[in-house]
Amino acid sequence: MSLEIVKEEIKNACAKYNREVSNVKLIAVSKFKPIEDIEEAIKQGQTVFGENRIQEAKEKFSTLKEKYPEIELHFIGHLQTNKAADAVAIADCIHSIDSIKLADALASEMNKQGRDIDCFIQVNTGYEEQKGGVTVGEDLEKLYKHCVEELKLNIIGLMCIPPVDDVADIHFALMHKIAGEMDIKYLSMGMSADFDAAIKFGATHIRVGSAIFGDRS
Ligand SMILES: *Cc1c(COP(=O)(O)O)cnc(C)c1O
Repeated sequence: MSLEIVKEEIKNACAKYNREVSNVKLIAVSKFKPIEDIEEAIKQGQTVFGENRIQEAKEKFSTLKEKYPEIELHFIGHLQTNKAADAVAIADCIHSIDSIKLADALASEMNKQGRDIDCFIQVNTGYEEQKGGVTVGEDLEKLYKHCVEELKLNIIGLMCIPPVDDVADIHFALMHKIAGEMDIKYLSMGMSADFDAAIKFGATHIRVGSAIFGDRS
């Protein structure tokens, strides 16, 4: 477990880029990792976790949340509309709203379950066909407006996953610019390989898996 090392690196990045450590939330991405690993991280003081598949999230975190009521689960993976009910039931934050249809389903479930969950809109900054997220410009603006004005969803920020072969900085810089223009407060970006750059460009939520828990293989 390299949680302490990652935290040290976050601290160093914040010092380097003149950011407050308290403004960078570390989401420990525990996908594919067993409950024991998560409990070890909890014992080291980690309270925020990320998962990308609903079934797995349910299996691990329904038990964990009972045992450790202070922990927070962020859902960071692609979400199908028919899983919206499960996502709303288990997650404390959803990072991957990428269509009007999904936003509608989530809003309806939140009403039904009496939950008001913080959400991010996922932006496909690399125009990758296989990746979730809306494209920058009209699509993003339309979805944001629909979420906020029609559905009254609590959209707190934007999320992105840069293309693996690209220099991440370009995508993070773009996200920083859009968030500024749209007056959006939070940015979910940066993973094990690039959270330093993400912090440089204003990330407020970084999603770090393998650097903490080891390779997933
Ligand atoms: C797996 C995953 C991460 C963490 O990736 P690492 O490279 O292991 O840090 C971050 N964000 C999303 C959306 C993921 O699916």
